[in-house]
Amino acid sequence: MIIADSTGGLLKPWRADMVRHIRDHTGQTQMDLQDFQQLIDKMYSHKDRQRGSEGTFLWLMEEMGELAAAIAEGKSQADKGEEFADVMAWLVTLANVENIDLSEALHAKYGQGCPGCGKMVCLCEEKP
Ligand SMILES: [Mg+2]
Ligand SMILES: [Zn+2]
Repeated sequence: MIIADSTGGLLKPWRADMVRHIRDHTGQTQMDLQDFQQLIDKMYSHKDRQRGSEGTFLWLMEEMGELAAAIAEGKSQADKGEEFADVMAWLVTLANVENIDLSEALHAKYGQGCPGCGKMVCLCEEKP
């Protein structure tokens, strides 16, 4: 897929159709969730499917613990970012093992607003 960059130019895909990195106006890179899930699938699914959901869930919880520690210990933004990345990687890994397209699931559940009240800015009483 060819996509337009922020200056209106066209970016060529790299590494086939696996990953799409977009440089935004601040020079930072972004990654599409669906591309990320596919990337993780290509890199690791041969091991992940063998390990199964239970072992994968333990890895996810371990990374959640590392994220909690990084926040609690006041680690640098770079360190915290790495832990968020680990949590996302293991979450999409679990989704891969369970054959869930996370991007699709997110869109289905949250794409039309709050699942509780249907508003784009939540007005639910029970989650202040
Ligand atoms: Mg980690
Ligand atoms: Zn709501």
